[in-house]
Order: sequence, then C-alpha cells, then structure tokens
Amino acid sequence: MARKIAAGNWKMNGTGAALAELDSLTQDPVPDGVDVLICPPAPLISRAAAVAGAVKIGAQDCHAKSSGAHTGDISADMLRDAGASYVILGHSERRSDHAETDAQVCAKTQAAVDAGLIAVVCIGETLDERNAGQTLEIVCGQLAASLPDTATSATCVVAYEPIWAIGTGKVPTLEQISEVHDALRAALVERFGDDGLQFSLLYGGSVKASNAVDIFGVPNVDGALVGGASLKAADFSPIIAALAAA
Ligand code: PEP
Repeated sequence: MARKIAAGNWKMNGTGAALAELDSLTQDPVPDGVDVLICPPAPLISRAAAVAGAVKIGAQDCHAKSSGAHTGDISADMLRDAGASYVILGHSERRSDHAETDAQVCAKTQAAVDAGLIAVVCIGETLDERNAGQTLEIVCGQLAASLPDTATSATCVVAYEPIWAIGTGKVPTLEQISEVHDALRAALVERFGDDGLQFSLLYGGSVKASNAVDIFGVPNVDGALVGGASLKAADFSPIIAALAAA
C-alpha cells in the first residue's frame, strides 16, 4: 500500500515568525502511518528542521546540478545538508514562473533522488486543457516525461494538481479526481510494474478541512499537497487527522 502523506507547501510565505506554526503543529503527535511534511521557503529549512520533531521538512525546488556556477540556485545536496528530506519539483508555479519543462523536472528529480531526497513531482492540467478534454493526455504525458526511469515508490511521490484549482477555492468533483488518479496509477503500474502500486499519489488544489474527508475517500488518493491551508497549524491539523482516518 502507498504511504499516506500530508504535505504543506508554504510557497514564498513566512519569515522566522512562521516557525511558531510549525511548533504548534508538533504539539500533536504525527499519526501512525502518515508522513506529515512542511515545505517552508528555503531560508527557513534549517531552522524548521531543528524544531520539526516527527514532522518532515522539504524544499520547494532544487537545481539539477550538485554544484557550480548557478547564482541563486540551491542543489539537492545543500537541501539535504540543511535538513530537508523531501523536495517539491515541477510545481505549476515553477513551470509557469520559470518556464520549467518536463525534461528539467526530470533532471531535478534525478538529482534529488541521487542526493537522498524524496521528490514530490507535480503535474496538472490548465482549465483550457480540461475543457478541451485533454486532461488525461496532459497529465499522463507530464508523468511520463517528469519521472526518470530510476524512480521508485521509495524515492518519488506524484502530486496531481489541476492548475485551475490551486489557490482558487475551486475543486474538481470527486469523479474527476478519481478519473485522473486511476489513470496515473495505471500509468505507474504499466511503467514500474508492481512498484507502481506503492507510489503515493497526492491530490493538490484548494484542499481544506471541509473537503479533505471526501477527497481522501477517493481510491488512489494517498494524501494531499496543500498550499494556503498549510500555513496555519489550526487549518492543517484537521487535514492531517482526516488523512489518518481515511
Ligand atoms: C499548492 O500550492 O500546491 C496548492 C495546492 O495550493 P492551495 O492548497 O492553496 O490550492
């Protein structure tokens, strides 16, 4: 069975004061069978790792090279050294703000795995693509091109994040989520055999306490990648509890 993961993506939000929310999150024990992950902005990673307890700390991007003349970039080795154990890669905001391609995401994923990080590889369609009936073609194409052949369920997690649902309050129907997650599971099994059954498949896009129970009830949804509702422990804790109970 795939492991359950409740992942919070703080994006470019928070200075040191925000660590009080992580501290608050650590007051509750992490439920058995669930990985709880917070991905703060890079400057907070080492301070977050120092206070995270059983909560895992991740980054939001890494460079594909391990070192060199890449001003402003951060390598996977550096993130690992700073205390990260996960890294989000290919988030739609990276793909749009920095024109990241599937090939770049794939190279970053390989770098992350080589450095001992677990990669959370994000894929998802635009609203135009969904309305054109291209959702499965788009997401399965992104999955194929963003995961290296060396990917395993122990080193890579897939997050399905419809771009039109991120930060908008709009959520696909449970049937739409199910259709995509089933297709992703089938694609993972086709490519990786039995190990494809073990990859954690996260849903992301306007997950909140009020919709988490229903979303986690969808087959092949093994957790969530959460933006806005991960910034406050009071909002994220019920999502973690819903996943633990699913
Ligand atoms: C995200 O940042 O990946 C995300 C899903 O954001 P939100 O939960 O705010 O829609």
